[in-house]
This record gives sequence, C-alpha cells and structure tokens, in this order.
Amino acid sequence: MVTLRSINQDDLRNHNLSVIINTILRSPSALSRADLAKTTGLTKATMSLLSALLLKNKVIGEGEPGTTQTSYGRPSTPLSIAHGRWAGMGLQINTDGYGCLALDLDGTLIDSAWIDDDMREADPEKVFASLDALAKPIEGRLGEDNYKLVGSGLALPGLVTGDMQLLMARNLGWERIDLSRFALVRRLNPVAGNEARLAALSQIPGFATQRTAGGGNDLLSPTDSFLYISTDIGIGGAVVRGGTVEVGDHGFAGELGHASVDLNGPTCRCGRRGCLETYAGRRALVEAAGIASGAEAVSTWAINELYRRWQQGDDKAVEAIDRGLDAMISVIVTAINIVDVDAVILGGFWPNLGRDLAQRLQERINRLTLGRNAAPVRVLMPSLSAYPALRGAASVGLRKFIDNPLGFFDN
Ligand SMILES: [Zn+2]
Repeated sequence: MVTLRSINQDDLRNHNLSVIINTILRSPSALSRADLAKTTGLTKATMSLLSALLLKNKVIGEGEPGTTQTSYGRPSTPLSIAHGRWAGMGLQINTDGYGCLALDLDGTLIDSAWIDDDMREADPEKVFASLDALAKPIEGRLGEDNYKLVGSGLALPGLVTGDMQLLMARNLGWERIDLSRFALVRRLNPVAGNEARLAALSQIPGFATQRTAGGGNDLLSPTDSFLYISTDIGIGGAVVRGGTVEVGDHGFAGELGHASVDLNGPTCRCGRRGCLETYAGRRALVEAAGIASGAEAVSTWAINELYRRWQQGDDKAVEAIDRGLDAMISVIVTAINIVDVDAVILGGFWPNLGRDLAQRLQERINRLTLGRNAAPVRVLMPSLSAYPALRGAASVGLRKFIDNPLGFFDN
C-alpha cells in the first residue's frame, strides 16, 4: 500500500517562515507584524508566533515603534532583517583572478578577498588550493563574529552542470573538470554556476539580501524581467524572467557571447565565426586597437591603455570600440526580439567606456527592436558593480537558509 506523507506542522511552519523572510527581504521599507500578516495572508496569531521565532533566532530585529500607526491607534513595531548572524559565501574563479566574499543576510559586505592573476591555462589543482587558502581566514572570521555560514556559491566562466561538472571554460583552457574532487568544494559544498548567471542574481532586488540595504539593482523591482550581459575576455549572459533566472534545460542558457554577427568574421574559440566576443570581448578590443596581442592582450595594462587611447581619440581605439558597440547592439536587439524583456543590464568592463554609454546604447537599441513602439527598452548599469558574480554566488548560499530556515535553527 502506498502511504502518502501528510504535510506535517514543521513543513508548514518552515514554509511560512520562508514566506515571511522573503516578504521582508523584498520590501523597500520595514514592515510591522500587521503589514506582514496582510501581505502573506497569515493570521495575526500565527504571525505573532513566527515573528517571535525569527526574533529569537536573530533573523529579524525590531525597530523603534511609532513610525507607523495601526488601525487601533497603537504604534506598530517595524521588523527588519537582523545584522550579524546569517552569512553566505561567494567564491569565484575568473579569467582575471579569483576570490571570495562573505555577505550578511541584511546585505552588508562582511569581508572579501581577491587576487588579480592571469588565469589562462592555470592549473586547476593549484587554483582551487589557492582559493581554499583565501577562503579559510574569512570563514574563521565568520566563526569569531558568531556568524552562521549557511551556504555558498561558486562562479565560473563556463558551462557548469547541476552535478558539479565544469564542461568547459575556454578562456581558462579548462575542460571536463569534476569540481567535487577539490577539498574546497567538499568542505563548503557550494552551488556552482556560470558567472553571468550569478552576477544577474545580484541585480534582483531582495533575492537573498535586504532590498534597501543594497540587495539588487535600485532601478528594478523584485519581479522584473531583464537581460544581464557580463563582459570580460568572454561575454556571458542571463535572462531573468519575473525575478527568476532562466537556466535552460541543461543549465547552459544565456551564452550571448557566441551569437554570431558575421558568418565571415574571425574564428572564435568555440569554433564558429564572427561571435560577439571576437568583436566586443576584452582581448578582441585590445588586439583590434593595435595595443597588444597574445598573452599581453589580456593584461590589466592593455585594457587601461585601451581606455586611455579611446579617450584621447586614437583612430584605431575609436574604430575598435565602435565596431564592438555595433556587434553588442546587434546581439542585444536579437536577444530582445527573441526573449521579449524590456531592461538590459550591462556588466563587466564595458561600463568603463563612458558615463553616457548606457544612454547611447538605449537610444540605438530602441530604434531597432521589433516591439520598440510598444515596449521601449531601458539600458542600466549594475548597482554594486564590484564583483557582482561573487555577490550572486554568496546570495545562492544565503538562499539555502531562506528556503529552509528551520533546518538552521538551533531549536
Ligand atoms: Zn564563439
């Protein structure tokens, strides 16, 4: 006989706690118990019980009463995410270095460390060992400060499967790596994902940290849809639909950098011709501007030299960037015509190419999309632009707690 498992009280309580935490995270202002009961549909008695549990476990804190009045005329107490107890850890290996970052549930950056390095053809064993050594002091600090590390994420510049296999990261020269073999991965058990996808998560307001304390892009709401573009040597992307990243059937969605804009263009590392990253990637631009080639083309010096020459109006630099911009606009317009979103966030190094870049892109994109008259597109720069993929990776760690708070409470 098949026995059906009934919903027990703990499952229900866990679900309700998760709904309350999500509601507080996504709210732009502090909410009272009455506000929360109204928004979540829970009774005031249940809300009172569950908020006591969240207070006891330092998930939320009480503000000064009296900022808002209840319908009974009694001043209500605003509740907000507490500081100093729940932390997520972000880990990242990128083409220009590696690092880690710890994030408080209230959105505060607790600690971070980053090592700039040329990562092409780097030995995965050595890189993971170095990242492990970088993460350990931060974990130690979390322990000393009485934080509970609830989970972590690992951002990689390539295709990652759900079972911790890195299929390829061509700009690192890595292929078919079982990530679970590394001590760091076994110890922290991170959720691994593509760096552009994790960076996109960092832009969703209230996704895993308090919205007003810097959780997400100030110009978006928690359920907005947008296209995120991450620009580096390679170019990655992610589509966020209604506040959720569309990962695809195999987790490979969003590879904008390998959209071809010219069938007779330069051969890309993926084997196709004329891919976006062969025009608008960091290495491609530096080479086209005649600044450097080979190993030197991916150095920090080379990209800074590109900015300098472009600002001075150097013909080759201007031409390279104009061509990169044309390729970028072509792919963004194609992507918008396919996925139908009305916001684009341009991350990575491209925002360094002028304050008016977003405006210029927006004007040109809005002359080209099929739906331009009905749905004009906004082009935005990332809020909290430093290390968005690391922040997103830490957020994925925090989600483990938000989705299952009872699993982390002491009693
Ligand atoms: Zn390609």
